[in-house]
Amino acid sequence: MKHVNRIRIKHDVDKCVGNKNCLLYASNYFSFSKQKAHLQDNYKKANAEYKDITVSHVELNKLIKAAYSCPVNVISIYDLKKNKVIVDNSIHSESALDIVAEKQTSHEMIFDKTGYFLVKVNQELKQIEVGLCRKRNIVAVKIIGKTPEDIYKTIIKHKLLSRFDHAAYLGRELQKAYIALQQNLDYVQDDELKFF
Ligand code: SF4
Repeated sequence: MKHVNRIRIKHDVDKCVGNKNCLLYASNYFSFSKQKAHLQDNYKKANAEYKDITVSHVELNKLIKAAYSCPVNVISIYDLKKNKVIVDNSIHSESALDIVAEKQTSHEMIFDKTGYFLVKVNQELKQIEVGLCRKRNIVAVKIIGKTPEDIYKTIIKHKLLSRFDHAAYLGRELQKAYIALQQNLDYVQDDELKFF
């Protein structure tokens, strides 16, 4: 084996969301069961899976790609010979610039050229219904779904909004609607949810 590397792979299996990206790049090292990826022939320590292995540069590159493709950063790789981290999954914020969010006194929003949304919760059908109005009170498009993610991804796919602030507003309202649906609460667009 040319250019041998002695490495340790760590997989925080509890945090794995099971989207299988790692298997695309490193199917020789990961398998899938019970909605999660698992390091093959691993040993366990404190809820994480580990594997110590000798690999070629080519294989190491596959594993690095797998680690970088993980959307929740639960794969890390260490070089055991050089005692250094190859792929780190911890978050470093020591040099981050801190910005304190300003208190918003005005809730004014610039109108989106694509229209505005009316959001409703249908408790009977257990669904969220979103109407896009291009003219006042006339629903041009109705988007129906069970979760905020299903709905906002559909809205983005169909290019039904065009502004960041509008997207953020919609995300907030969809999450409120979803909580109302789950908890059997009244949902009123633009109002806070009332839990008591
Ligand atoms: S890429 Fe990450 S989250 Fe997705 S299955 Fe693999 S370890 Fe789990």
